Amino acid sequence: MATTGGGTGRVVDGAVSAGGWHDAEDLKWEARHWAARMGVTIGQIHVRLMRSKWASMSRGRRLTLNAELLDLPRALGEYVIVHELVHVLAPNHGKVFTSFLSAYLPDWRERDAALRAIESDGCR
Ligand SMILES: [Zn+2]
Repeated sequence: MATTGGGTGRVVDGAVSAGGWHDAEDLKWEARHWAARMGVTIGQIHVRLMRSKWASMSRGRRLTLNAELLDLPRALGEYVIVHELVHVLAPNHGKVFTSFLSAYLPDWRERDAALRAIESDGCR
């Protein structure tokens, strides 16, 4: 499912830029990338403005990401994506959850803190 239309190479795992995202497609692409990397199957991905959270995953594994993430550093959007994907593996914020997060994003606590500094409302 190559939907990127042969654009110039995005560097996987790397900071394409230190700034934010190019557009919603960029954010979705990152989510797809992480899902594949984590072996998590997800459905559609939507990007829209959400009032009280950064992202949500429906039962049908439809991932919705807050469009406000587009204005934030990539590292934060990436954290939100990985956080939601880990919920497929571990529904609650327990030890299993945090060990998965630590495996994929060793510095997730810093990212979490940065996000919380922006808005106090985290996931759920
Ligand atoms: Zn959560």
